[in-house]
Amino acid sequence: MTAHPIIIPIFLPNLGCRERCLFCNQKATAKEVPSPSSVRNYIEASLIRLPSDEEIPEKQVAFYGGSFTAISQEDQVRYLKEVQPFLDSGLIHSIRISTRPDALDEAILSLLKANGVKTVEIGVQTMIDEILFLSKRGHSAEDIVSATSRLKAWGFEVGMHLMVGLPGDTCDRFLQTLDKVIALRPDFVRIHPTLVLEGSPLEVLWRAGKYSPLSLDETLQWLKKGLLKLERSNIQVARIGLQPTRELERHLLAGPYHPALHQLIDSEIALDMAKHLLQLYSEVNHPLFLCHPKEVSNLRGQRNGNILRLKDQFHLEEILIQTREDILKGSLILQNTKRNIVIHRRDLYYESIQNSH
Ligand code: SF4
Repeated sequence: MTAHPIIIPIFLPNLGCRERCLFCNQKATAKEVPSPSSVRNYIEASLIRLPSDEEIPEKQVAFYGGSFTAISQEDQVRYLKEVQPFLDSGLIHSIRISTRPDALDEAILSLLKANGVKTVEIGVQTMIDEILFLSKRGHSAEDIVSATSRLKAWGFEVGMHLMVGLPGDTCDRFLQTLDKVIALRPDFVRIHPTLVLEGSPLEVLWRAGKYSPLSLDETLQWLKKGLLKLERSNIQVARIGLQPTRELERHLLAGPYHPALHQLIDSEIALDMAKHLLQLYSEVNHPLFLCHPKEVSNLRGQRNGNILRLKDQFHLEEILIQTREDILKGSLILQNTKRNIVIHRRDLYYESIQNSH
């Protein structure tokens, strides 16, 4: 089975949530809670729209948007049972759910296992207790550690949702969180910046001038360090940034929203790699960079922005780029008359780059 299944998402906005976390308004991403009886039709309709089986090695139904395991056990079973006919026929391979780390005791894990759940995504947000408290999460970092170890003992695939820029957060605290997350070895993480959404408790703080979101530039600086840290530890990053939807954009009041945040970070990293090479070999006047064809747009940046920044910083007349299929993805080569110099993004450490944040 592939590490990237096709997911049929069923949103249960805020279902099971005991209280509202500071930053949350799930109604901004989905409207009504679908009943268990509507699930079967929805899956059937979704399956029709998917490409043929040979192209999709794994299909999962996901219950997102609330605290699935904090709803009553009867209701959990009602939702999960609707997927069973599809599991039995092989049209769907498994189920994933998202939930809180303090709603995963042994009895619940047993129920999930018996009903076809393979993947559990837990809301972590941060491993700093003070930030969890300020965000009104209602659980501690220790709850995350113990939930993860129970999930792993039961053989579930574990995903973690992380956030940057919550009240009390700093770049150092975010990187500390990642160290703790890496030690727990989740199968994948998703990271998104804190946005001020209409109808969330955070809106009140923001309107009172008691909370300021990160700027987009700060977010990029934090996330590029975090992304490289995760890549160096071989933790899969399934997504950075929230899925852009009309509902989200309609509820967005403030914060570092960008519909292609991951791509923006990759582009910042490519710029830093090019800067690093040019700093090492500053005698080059017409540098020629070589990269994999899939990464040339990262190197160029949006509207050629990286090229313009490099020309300006290093006083270059022109920058040449060639692509070659045989270049390892994540690598950048600066061609020189004497020898080629190579850097891989995993080897980029920010202390060694001037003009980086
Ligand atoms: S963040 Fe998760 S647990 Fe908190 S209110 Fe939103 S859906 Fe519920």
